[in-house]
Amino acid sequence: METISYDDLGPAKILNIYCPQVPFHAVVVVDNTALGPAIGGVRVSPTVDAHEVQRLARTMTLKSSIAGLPHGGGKAGIMVDPSRPDMERIFRIFARMMSELTEYIPAPDMGCHEKAMTWVKDEIGRVLGLPEEIGGLPLDKLGATGYGVAECAEIAAEYAGVKLPGSRVAIQGYGSVGTAAARFLAEKGATIVAVSDSKGAIFDSGGLRVDKLQAVKEETGRVTNYPGGRVMDGGEIFGVPCDILVPAATPDVINQSNCGRIEAKIILEGANIPTTQEAEKILASKGVLVVPDFIANAGGLIMAAMEYQEKTADEAFIHIATRIKTNAKKILEKAHCEKMLPRAAAELLAYERVRAAMPYREYTYPIRH
Ligand code: NAD
Repeated sequence: METISYDDLGPAKILNIYCPQVPFHAVVVVDNTALGPAIGGVRVSPTVDAHEVQRLARTMTLKSSIAGLPHGGGKAGIMVDPSRPDMERIFRIFARMMSELTEYIPAPDMGCHEKAMTWVKDEIGRVLGLPEEIGGLPLDKLGATGYGVAECAEIAAEYAGVKLPGSRVAIQGYGSVGTAAARFLAEKGATIVAVSDSKGAIFDSGGLRVDKLQAVKEETGRVTNYPGGRVMDGGEIFGVPCDILVPAATPDVINQSNCGRIEAKIILEGANIPTTQEAEKILASKGVLVVPDFIANAGGLIMAAMEYQEKTADEAFIHIATRIKTNAKKILEKAHCEKMLPRAAAELLAYERVRAAMPYREYTYPIRH
């Protein structure tokens, strides 16, 4: 297992949690809070580890910075199978055990949902992504991140010479982000030709019906039960003929083993860190435009930040569209003019903003409740 590494930004704090009574392990990483209290999702997965949580926490620092939000970056991981029947007990214990880390505000991430956020709310008071019935902006139900991915697609399409209406889209990971991305991209006239989940993939060059796909996934738990189309192994989705590929599941899925097969002209990183650095360079040399995670999938974070400011869902959607499009344009223009990877251009700007704030905030930032 890789160890934690430190640099001039952080991470500021790492909290290891072990509850022998259940038992379960968890970890919280607060990366940097110079710009404000850290927002970051709680990932529930048997395979998540401290190193992955650290990398995701840094992504949140950069995502907040580039989106111009008054927030830092953090992340948590609970190392259990999310389908366990005792998740409420685990979440309540987790929340209690991290309650004193007041500069970290939990939010939903892979393997958890709005309901879990209500348990955290009960225990420690501070949380984002609550159900609307109790004053939250449920970012997964509203499809905040998928909406942002689709808005980002409009800008990326201009730079990659792709016409969004009529373009072919493949989505790896048909969960909260993937389903919303499919819905909003279809609304913009794109054709969803392939989607996958952890059980396999389904492909139809003539297009999959998003409403039917959604119903099949809800009713049967797997996209491969979609009537019609061709069922494939999950990994085959990376090689399907398409213009836009949206990885929306786990880290490092686009790597040296499969990037040579990718036919898409644009990769919109719906997931966090789905493309390895080596693969990103190879794809760039093939002329594939990879829009980095902290630009493309910032919709959920922007909505969470709007919930913190007690804004409405409509206001949040306007912020998502405006901020993501403005940032995507700025970064893709810089990358194009200065012949650098979009990720490098985005990181330069994001690091610059955090470093400029750091002399004013040398200790972690307390939050209001
Ligand atoms: P989710 O748990 O709702 O969905 C994940 C989906 O990925 C599920 O359909 C699952 O079956 C599928 N999956 C898992 N392993 C897979 C594999 N190997 N191949 C294909 N599919 C696989 O999670 P989510 O909230 O949609 O998050 C997905 C990704 O997006 C994560 O990387 C998360 O960090 C990132 N993200 C989420 C949000 C958000 O608002 N939810 C915001 C920003 C980034």
